[in-house]
Parts: sequence; C-alpha cells; structure tokens
Amino acid sequence: MTKNGTFRLFTKPSKLKGGESFLKEQISLLIKLQKNDSETERIKINKKKLPERIISLDEEFRRVGSKVEKERKNFEKLKKSHGEEEEKLKRGIENLKKTKNKLLEVKTNKEYQAMLKEVEIAEGRNSEVEDRIIGVLEEIDNIKEEIKIREEELSAYRLTYEKERHGVEKDMDSIDAELLACQKNIGDIREKIDADFLKKYDGIKGIRNGLAVVPVWNGVCGGCHMNIPPQMYNELQRSENLISCPNCNRIIYWADISKK
Ligand SMILES: [Zn+2]
Repeated sequence: MTKNGTFRLFTKPSKLKGGESFLKEQISLLIKLQKNDSETERIKINKKKLPERIISLDEEFRRVGSKVEKERKNFEKLKKSHGEEEEKLKRGIENLKKTKNKLLEVKTNKEYQAMLKEVEIAEGRNSEVEDRIIGVLEEIDNIKEEIKIREEELSAYRLTYEKERHGVEKDMDSIDAELLACQKNIGDIREKIDADFLKKYDGIKGIRNGLAVVPVWNGVCGGCHMNIPPQMYNELQRSENLISCPNCNRIIYWADISKK
C-alpha cells in the first residue's frame, strides 16, 4: 500500500519516465495476453470434446437406426409365423375333406356318430388356426405402420445427424489452425510485455485458474466479485498504475462492461 491507500504494485519508475503511455500500452497488452490465453484454453478443451461429440452423434444415429432394424426383424418373424399357420390350415382343410369322405363309407350308426365327432373336432381346430391367422395379419399391419413411422423418424434424423457431424468435422479441421494462430499471438504479445509484469502475470495465472487479468466495473472485481475500495476504483479509471485486486491479487483494469 502506498500512502494514498492504493496498490501501486507494478509501477516501474524508470520506465514510467517515458510517460503514462508505456503503462497504458502494457495494460492493454496484458489484457490481450489474457484474452489469447483464455482463448487457447477454450480451443484446447474444444479440441478434446470434438471427437467425443462425433462418437456420441454416431451412437445416437445407430440407436435410432436400430429401432427400425428391430421392427423389421419382428416383421420377418410374423411373416414366417403367418406362413406356418397358413400351411397348418391347408393341411387341416385336407384332413377334414378326407374325414368327410369317410363319412360316406361308414356302415353303422355308431361309426357314423364317431366320424361326425371327428369332423366336429377337425372343424374346431381349423377355426382356431383361422383365428390365429387373423391375429397375425393384424399384427403385421400394425408393424408395417410402425416400420413406416420409424423409417420416417430415421430419415429425418439422418439429415440433422449428417449436418451436425459435418459441422463438427469442419471444426476439427480448422481447430489446429486456430490454436496455432492463438499461440503465435501469445508469443508476439509476450515479447512486448515487461519481464516483471510477465512474471507477475504468469504467477497469478498459475494459482488463479488461468485468469490473471480481469476487468472491474461498478467497483466490483471481475475475478473474485469483491468490491474494490473507492479510491482505488478512481485511480483505476485513470489507468495511471498497474493495480492488483486487494482480495484475489489479479491484475485489474477499468472497463465499462455495460457497453459491450
Ligand atoms: Zn479480485
């Protein structure tokens, strides 16, 4: 603390001889450095996330596709069981015809009664098979409808999926160039910043979650959200000194965030 109560932590009298413009420039360089460092972090996180996004897009597409597959398999099963029941019915009708023919050959009433019973049983069995066939045909109709719905769902989803996947692939293509550009900016900016300022910047960045330079607006530090002493806030607006937040120690600058 200086006698007027502000934190003139980084002023270097020798360099300030050149005027305030040196400090103003340094502050603006530190702000730019922070922007590029934060951007680099964001890009790196994104770079890791993009391949994961591709995997989850592919998985979702397969999941939607598998619903159609499942219904198609059910359809095949039903078709097979329909064929089997039709075969059974055909055989049942033939057997019934044979039994009815035998009716003509019987000689005694007792035999006749027994044959009639046999015909009745065969007719009952055939009717059961017919009922089952009707049931299977109904199920086939339903499943055809279901397949149609699922196929429409899949083709609609395919459009979204392909568009999104293409977007992610494009991002993956450009992200390395973006990262490189950012890293080059960082190199250029660092060259122009005073060594002591840089040391301070790197030190705070290391312990403050990558955030060393923050704006202050309405008297509140953008890093720790604590109030800055009024006198310091006034000094900050004149940007005559490189000031650090008394609470989180981050380098602070005055910025009218409301205009952004
Ligand atoms: Zn703070």
